[in-house]
Amino acid sequence: MDENKPMNNLPKPNKDLNSKRTDYLEWHDFFMATAFLAAKRSKDPVSQVGAVIVNKERKIVGTGYNGMPIGCSDDEFPWSKSSDPLKSKHLYVCHAEMNAVLNKNSADVKNCTIYVGLFPCNECAKIIIQSGIREVIYLSDKHAHKKETVAAKRMFEAVGIKYWQYKPENQRIVIDFSEIDWNNQRQVPYTPIKEILENNIDTSRKVPLTLDT
Ligand code: ZN
Repeated sequence: MDENKPMNNLPKPNKDLNSKRTDYLEWHDFFMATAFLAAKRSKDPVSQVGAVIVNKERKIVGTGYNGMPIGCSDDEFPWSKSSDPLKSKHLYVCHAEMNAVLNKNSADVKNCTIYVGLFPCNECAKIIIQSGIREVIYLSDKHAHKKETVAAKRMFEAVGIKYWQYKPENQRIVIDFSEIDWNNQRQVPYTPIKEILENNIDTSRKVPLTLDT
C-alpha cells in the first residue's frame, strides 16, 4: 500500500496556503453529490432519489427529490407498497426528475444535463424529453430489468438523448459542519475574537496585556 496516498484515493491535501488546493471536488462529483444531498430531503422509506439539472455554463438550474405533491400531506398519503394501488405510494409520489424540471429557476432547461441517483423511469423520461434536456447522467441502474427502465432507454435512444453511468472515484464525500472553525483559521482576515486570543489583548483597555512580575 502506498503510504503517501490517503484512504480516499484523493490527492494528498495541499497544505501550502499559497497555492491551489488539489483535493477540491470535480464537477461531476459536485453535481452528483448535490443530487444525493437533495435526496436526503425525501420522506420515502425505501428509495430516496435526488436530481440536479445543470446548464451549459455549469450552473444548477433545478433540483428535486421524490416526494408528495405540494399540499398532499406527507403524513396522510401512503408511503407503503400496498397491493391496493390507492393505498400505495406509486400513484401519488412525484419523482425527483419531475420535481427538478418543475422547480427550475430558469426560463427552460433546453440542452441541459440532468444528474440523477437512479436511472429515470419511463414517466420521467417523457418529462426529460419534453423539457429539452439532452443528457442524463445516472449513478445506479438497479432497475435495468424493469419495463419502465427499458421503455425509458428506448425513448432516449429514439430521440438521441445521451445517457451514461457515472462511476465516482470516491465512494464517500463527507460534509463536516465543524470544518469551518473561524477562530482557528490561519489566514487573514482576523476575527476580533482571534485577535484578542492571540495577542492577549485586554478588551476593556484595548492594549496588550502585560504580566505582573
Ligand atoms: Zn420517474
